[in-house]
Amino acid sequence: MAAIDRLRAMLGEDKVSTNQSVLEAHGRDENFPETRPPIAVAYADEVADIQAVLAWCREQHVPVIPFGVGSSFEGALVPASPDVPVISLDVSRMDKVLSIQPENFLAVVEPGITRTTLNAALRHTGLFFPVDPGADASLGGMAATNASGTTTVRYGGMRQNILALQVVLANGEVLELGRPVRKSSSGYDLKNLFIGSSGTLGVITKLTVRLHPVAEHIHTLRVFFPSVNQAAEAAYSVMGSALPVARLELLDELAIRSINRYLGRDYPVAPALFLEFHSSTRAAIEDEIALVEALVQEAGAINITVARTQQEQLAQWEARHNVHWALVTSHPGHTYTITDTAVPLAHLPAMIAYAQQMLQAMGLTGSIVGHVGDGNFHTLVATKPEDVAQAHTFSEQLVHRSLAVGGTASGEHGIGLVKRRYMAEEHGPALAWMRQIKALFDPDDLLNPGKIV
Ligand SMILES: Cc1cc2nc3c(=O)[nH]c(=O)nc-3n(C[C@H](O)[C@H](O)[C@H](O)COP(=O)(O)OP(=O)(O)OC[C@H]3O[C@@H](n4cnc5c(N)ncnc54)[C@H](O)[C@@H]3O)c2cc1C
Repeated sequence: MAAIDRLRAMLGEDKVSTNQSVLEAHGRDENFPETRPPIAVAYADEVADIQAVLAWCREQHVPVIPFGVGSSFEGALVPASPDVPVISLDVSRMDKVLSIQPENFLAVVEPGITRTTLNAALRHTGLFFPVDPGADASLGGMAATNASGTTTVRYGGMRQNILALQVVLANGEVLELGRPVRKSSSGYDLKNLFIGSSGTLGVITKLTVRLHPVAEHIHTLRVFFPSVNQAAEAAYSVMGSALPVARLELLDELAIRSINRYLGRDYPVAPALFLEFHSSTRAAIEDEIALVEALVQEAGAINITVARTQQEQLAQWEARHNVHWALVTSHPGHTYTITDTAVPLAHLPAMIAYAQQMLQAMGLTGSIVGHVGDGNFHTLVATKPEDVAQAHTFSEQLVHRSLAVGGTASGEHGIGLVKRRYMAEEHGPALAWMRQIKALFDPDDLLNPGKIV
């Protein structure tokens, strides 16, 4: 194809692939039911490569979808239509740590670096980067989806942990957004506009991220309850205490059973809260342990297990981070419908109860897991082809209920193709202004078109 030959001539032979399996790996995500391969994958080693790809896109009128490691949900990476040719712009080779500045509690990185690689590079500093989605995602992809994770309840998600961004716009211009400072009242906050924009406004090419001191005293425990509702009520009362909550995760019985099978654990098969507290002194932690145990017992806890060693703590969070794969492998041959609502905290127990009742009433197999300290939970519905319509109705009803109580359609996974239909209901007239912002930055609709707005 002449257009692809031209791209090869502009970028270099080794930076363009049309290999079928490479194309397929770039035209899918972790739960969208269809694969829609791009016509080529372009690999960037530096900003100039990204500018060259965008120049080619403008010349050929072919849209481009930026690609990190491909761990996202909701069809964010999948072309909006199978009939429109697109190229994928893979930035995973741009994976360097450009500088670590412990004295300023920050690091400057390229977008392709993954969260675990960054934390490995930080090990000698006593600092860490906290945002930890279950996958080893790229920092660029995490910024583009405004990802969060188990520690967000204490340290914030991507928006709270990115100080500055470098982005390349559709016209090839390079912008520096934000400053390496903790606070600023200067100008419109374009940096935060690009965070969560899913590659629709520009390509992220550099990030300045906040680092945090590793906590001295960590108290980690698992608490099991007779019912998911009691676990959710306990989570709410823990959030209402003054305890220094660093992680507060809910897993239902099916999730625990799947983890036991997948990782060979012997956790009690019951709904659970996985909790962690970060304290500055040992004395403080003793009082906090007593308080948290009293709170969960009052909510009906049937088993409390404290992770005594660092190894036990790591094992507990390894289990939490593997829950998605544990569930997926226990239902081979199914696809997954994943909900991602977040609601004001007081509504969380009722939302979880509603999700449970609906699963039962519709005869669906689903598991509830969630970052409940943030009011955010997922229902992973194992879907056979004959259940697709039911699963979609379930997901839709949960979103409507979330929006009705002041919540959001997506706590962390983003809008992609799947959640677009709720944007008007959630944002009202503001959606028209979002569309104008998209048109301002990308008038030819070349950057991940058809997403979000
Ligand atoms: C097992 C599992 C557990 C997960 N748990 C969580 C969780 O707890 N919390 C959470 O938030 N998510 C979670 N996710 C979803 C996923 O990991 C996040 O959405 C993550 O942020 C995606 O990063 P990525 O590098 O894979 O991006 P990709 O999937 O490659 O891309 C995601 C989006 O970002 C855009 N993009 C990628 N790189 C750039 C760039 N440099 N510039 C501009 N746009 C770009 C893409 O076009 C796409 O729209 C989980 C996924 C899995 C598989």
